[in-house]
Amino acid sequence: MPIECDYHMHTPLCQHAAGPMEAYVERGIELGLKEIGFSDHNPLPEGRGAKVRMLESELEYYVNRVQELQFQYRGKIVVRLGLELDFVEGLEDYLAAQIARYPWDYIIGSVHYFDRACEIGSWTRMYPGTADQQWIRYGEQVKKLARSGLCDIIAHLDVVKRSTKQPSSAGLDALTGALEEIARVGVCMEINTSGYRHKELNTPQPYPNLAFVEQALKLGIPLTVNSDSHAPDQVGTMFPKIEEFLRLRGGRQLCRFEKRQRSFYAL
Ligand SMILES: [Zn+2]
Ligand SMILES: [Zn+2]
Repeated sequence: MPIECDYHMHTPLCQHAAGPMEAYVERGIELGLKEIGFSDHNPLPEGRGAKVRMLESELEYYVNRVQELQFQYRGKIVVRLGLELDFVEGLEDYLAAQIARYPWDYIIGSVHYFDRACEIGSWTRMYPGTADQQWIRYGEQVKKLARSGLCDIIAHLDVVKRSTKQPSSAGLDALTGALEEIARVGVCMEINTSGYRHKELNTPQPYPNLAFVEQALKLGIPLTVNSDSHAPDQVGTMFPKIEEFLRLRGGRQLCRFEKRQRSFYAL
């Protein structure tokens, strides 16, 4: 069986994605996916990171729109209601209250920020310091996210590479440590294929890179494959390549989610 689900779609609500939500779903149908899930960037309090996410006042609208699509496309494709939740240390109570309000199918947890202000460690610019310092700091945040219980899927594990130089073994070990923690907690992790579209990466690769994916397989971490689409033509980016990679290394199953319950389907 091929990869059946793509759970990481953005919408124009986050202000850096394009195309009507219907176009993402239509593309999913065209590719033969069985499930497509929206997971736009969640609101944060007091205008934190407001340029790259929906407003608090838009969350209800977002949920309603996804639910409309579930109805509109029933019998053609399953549409899932998800959210990409920015993990910000110190805001755990706010985040827990936010996700308690709606019937999510899954929450994708991300680390894009290193501090509560959500300013300095932004999408493309991490803290000053060496690459190792940043990778270590990032790895610590991912461990906290895994332990927090806030999410069902850990997003783009080594996204820190997008804005830092290649680390030494100390930086790489920090992410191996994060993988071990993910395995210990038992939370699912995505293989995020948006890296194949990101020009700032020197070689085309997913998040995390294939060496980390191999470690994840050895550790028995439950996996999904997601495109992190910010435009409809990005749905299912490089899925056949990842499918082949997983099969060759004994990957036998992937996760699906419904109402935050995880199950598996055979690959
Ligand atoms: Zn985005
Ligand atoms: Zn992200």
